[in-house]
Amino acid sequence: MHELIIIGGGPAGISASIYAQRKRMDFVLIAKDVGGQVIKAGEIENYLGYALVDGILFVQRMMEQMEKLGVKPVLDEVVKVSRTEGGFLVRTLSGKEFASKTLLFCTGAEHKKLDVPGEREYIGKGVSYCYTCDAPFFKDREVIVVGGGNSGFEAAEQLSKYATRVYISEISDKFKADEVLKEKVLSNPKVVTLLKHRLLEIRGDGREVKEVVMEDLDRKRVYSLSVDGVFVEIGLKPNSELAKSLGVLTTSRDEIIIDCNNRTSEHGVYAAGDCTNIFAKQIITAAGDGAKALLSIYHDLTYGISSWI
Ligand SMILES: Cc1cc2nc3c(=O)[nH]c(=O)nc-3n(C[C@H](O)[C@H](O)[C@H](O)COP(=O)(O)OP(=O)(O)OC[C@H]3O[C@@H](n4cnc5c(N)ncnc54)[C@H](O)[C@@H]3O)c2cc1C
Repeated sequence: MHELIIIGGGPAGISASIYAQRKRMDFVLIAKDVGGQVIKAGEIENYLGYALVDGILFVQRMMEQMEKLGVKPVLDEVVKVSRTEGGFLVRTLSGKEFASKTLLFCTGAEHKKLDVPGEREYIGKGVSYCYTCDAPFFKDREVIVVGGGNSGFEAAEQLSKYATRVYISEISDKFKADEVLKEKVLSNPKVVTLLKHRLLEIRGDGREVKEVVMEDLDRKRVYSLSVDGVFVEIGLKPNSELAKSLGVLTTSRDEIIIDCNNRTSEHGVYAAGDCTNIFAKQIITAAGDGAKALLSIYHDLTYGISSWI
């Protein structure tokens, strides 16, 4: 039985693994990928020590650090976690099983889906959840961004460098992005705003997106809009299903609830990064949270647990 299993290979999981290795703990890091959301982040300007760094390069640097310390992640998906006497059993998609005394969830978050007809069919054929990855494919084309928060406006800003027209649709009567970003994007003549609009359907010819069906909630009108791309930016969904299967408490937004030492409501289960209820969902906070969680686990395994939430 290992002391610890870390699930997830984003900044939180990587940071925890580095601390675990330096503490000479007996642990396993299991991750579907190494880098997590950072792979899609494009240029990063807010990580301490880097004025500007590309996401892929940043991931490479983290991998180099892991390699130097001898951390070897198991590249696999965890599909089941269960309690055993004295610990936990983790099963992966490839059929491997691992046992440990403690678990650390660093499973991050994923983009929410619209759940409308055509969305799944056209993923990668015009429907995208990553403007930093896909914006250049829409040169001289027309696109719609769904979601009027910061991510939606950042997507619209990037897309306006390539596309001829960028619609930005928001279901409520207000855009929620920061004022500076809003001013910048809304002053761009290529940007067309659609407040109080709902996207009902994505249609195409089987090969690529051709149009979307929109509902104008004010005028109570349904109409179709010709576009080549749909960028979905309606928020993130934390990957907390596995933790929930152990009885771990979550918020109404499905975030794993942790205390200031990264303990969850279940004995021996810890969480860090974007899958938790920490307010700031950033690389620097996830990395710090992973480190903090590991030190907390090390403390609890070594000296016993003093208090629980
Ligand atoms: C487009 C984009 C741009 C961004 N730009 C910035 C930026 O400029 N600056 C900034 O600070 N932040 C930025 N962020 C946010 C930042 O990337 C995240 O806050 C950060 O990556 C969270 O780290 P994490 O380790 O908690 O989770 P994640 O990065 O989400 O990593 C989660 C990991 O868990 C793995 N996983 C999930 N479920 C399982 C399972 N069942 N089995 C095994 N592995 C599993 C995933 O594969 C992944 O490796 C951006 C995010 C996106 C999407």
